[in-house]
Amino acid sequence: MYKPKNYELSELAHPQIIKAIGVKNTWRRLDEQCLRDMQTINDEWRKIHNSGIYCNRLNLGLDSRGLRPPNDPDGSFYSTHKNGNTFDLEPVNGKIEELYKFIIQLIKDGKLLKLNTLENFADTVKWVHVGYMNTTEKPLIIFL
Ligand SMILES: [Zn+2]
Repeated sequence: MYKPKNYELSELAHPQIIKAIGVKNTWRRLDEQCLRDMQTINDEWRKIHNSGIYCNRLNLGLDSRGLRPPNDPDGSFYSTHKNGNTFDLEPVNGKIEELYKFIIQLIKDGKLLKLNTLENFADTVKWVHVGYMNTTEKPLIIFL
């Protein structure tokens, strides 16, 4: 079990899951390599921008940006968010499109272990959807 130093569990998993199966089991539902990638993205981004990256923001009611419960009304029914390997990210400094390009470059440079898929930025705009899918593309860009 790996816990990235920049995130609390509540930032990565829906509160309904944590309540249902507990903290330890929720950590286990999150993909370890993807969590390591989340930390790498944060570390590399911080080197340049000296600020962090949000995932869930419970104070704003944003609770489905990481691991989602099976019945979550947000997003598509078969969303990979339910697999624990997909996250919607929002840089604290608001440079969202820059973060999108930054993550693509990290993938192209082979800096990430597993995260390899993004949703086309123009289709999300307010966040960067990054996850894992079974693909050889680096990265796979999904157009919604
Ligand atoms: Zn997403």
